[in-house]
Amino acid sequence: MALCAPAKEGNTIYEDILGALGGAEGERRLAYKAAEDGSILSELDMKLSPEQYQHLYNTPGAVVKRKFYRTAKKWTNNIVPYTMDGSFANHKHILQQGMDHISQKTCIKFVPRTTQRNYIHFQNGEGCNSHLGMYGGRQAVNLQNPGCRSKGTVVHELGHALGLVHEHQLPDRKIRIEYNNVAPQWRMWFDPYKTYDLDQTGVGYDMTSIMHYGLYAFSGNGGQTIHALDKSKEYLINGNRSVLSKSDIDVINNIYCGGTGTGTGTGTVTTNCTDNDKDCTYWANQGHCNSSTYRPFMSQTCRKACRFC
Ligand SMILES: [Zn+2]
Repeated sequence: MALCAPAKEGNTIYEDILGALGGAEGERRLAYKAAEDGSILSELDMKLSPEQYQHLYNTPGAVVKRKFYRTAKKWTNNIVPYTMDGSFANHKHILQQGMDHISQKTCIKFVPRTTQRNYIHFQNGEGCNSHLGMYGGRQAVNLQNPGCRSKGTVVHELGHALGLVHEHQLPDRKIRIEYNNVAPQWRMWFDPYKTYDLDQTGVGYDMTSIMHYGLYAFSGNGGQTIHALDKSKEYLINGNRSVLSKSDIDVINNIYCGGTGTGTGTGTVTTNCTDNDKDCTYWANQGHCNSSTYRPFMSQTCRKACRFC
């Protein structure tokens, strides 16, 4: 992987992201590094708040009991205001292509920011990365130049900003990870998310998602790291480099347009009258079933304890 490789047509999203960081060494330097806003770079390109990180990865040795933070907040009224720095003078069309694509396929609208409090700021930061969901205030989407200035990378990072997580970590993924080929420090980035952290809105894992890394992602020795369980479909994993897949579109539209209107992004879609976390009774006794902050989470994760079913 060449240092500061320009975004190439033939690259997978993962290769572009890693290339922009300057390969494995750059990733090592940036990983876990707290940004000025206190976020933690995870999975190569997601800036997680400490709470989101704690939630998704249950940091070993952490003294704070895992709380039921939702991993993503939604944008109000499906509108994402944006600004950009001067480095996009010659690249506005690439941003526009990415935003137009998402707007054409979903109910999300991107508008130049006027006075909105919460907005994204496209900047020539280090690597290609984004916060997960609406973070609050001005949140940077880093699209390093060169390296991250392609439509596919813009769509992928905006996917994170809208609250989408990585497809290859979904609990219902139909892939096998060849851990022997994965660099040890990156193995955790293949941990499947827990079902109760996610709202897949009834949409299953999809190899063609723009949020899926390629077959050689996080390889430590050059060997293949992701294998499709159905070998005949494996080519699909590296196939999508620039557009939302049908499943990406469905999830965004379910969450933002036809979803439950709960206002926060994640949580298992539960149809059975069960609890999906051993702490549900405890949380219910704390009064979280009806608190405005936690009710969306509790109504999906602790339906039984809260007597919502
Ligand atoms: Zn990503």
